[in-house]
Amino acid sequence: MVLSQEQIEKLKEQIYKQIESWPDEKKQPIIDEIESMDAEQFEEFIKQQNSEKQGNCIFCSINEGKIKSYKIDEDKENNAILEINPLSKGHSLIVSKNHDEKSPESSFIMAKKIEATLNTKFEPKEIKIFATKIMGHPVVEITPIYGDEKERKKASDKELEEIQKEFLKKDEKIEEKNSVKQSKDNQDEKAANIKEKEEPKEEKKVEQKPYKMKPRIP
Ligand SMILES: [Zn+2]
Repeated sequence: MVLSQEQIEKLKEQIYKQIESWPDEKKQPIIDEIESMDAEQFEEFIKQQNSEKQGNCIFCSINEGKIKSYKIDEDKENNAILEINPLSKGHSLIVSKNHDEKSPESSFIMAKKIEATLNTKFEPKEIKIFATKIMGHPVVEITPIYGDEKERKKASDKELEEIQKEFLKKDEKIEEKNSVKQSKDNQDEKAANIKEKEEPKEEKKVEQKPYKMKPRIP
């Protein structure tokens, strides 16, 4: 592979666009590293990124529980999580469990459920739902609009925990209805677990590991 200067610039631009919403302390070292590479090193970097593509996908890592996320729903094909750099309160993502395919129909069914919860709990003016691919991973983005949105901002753990709690509250009610009683005396564990509505007995744990990953190219 021989890249022209023009191709290199274009690839760099793509990479920077992909990491645009990352916090500066994570983004800047990557930008510095890329800028310090000569053409040959950059090509090597691109090759490496492409071969590691799926293994490094942030959403695959979230699905595997390797990266901390604020899960608000789950079914066989999707995980719903809170956006950590939200535009607005309740900004959520439906992350497909399959990296390569486009978002399955069930992603949109789950998005509708999240939309209903957002409308009830936070009363936004409107809610935007659209399917996209982030770093090659199919995602449905749910953005509540309240009218005072400016730009995406990193949410604090506390903010995200509170919003997650609102969603889990609803889940607890459903669980009671299904008379599934588990770990009632352990609230922390309960908050970290999401139950699949279709299979209420199955329980999945969200591992709380620090957010850390290598950059990837879409
Ligand atoms: Zn992925």
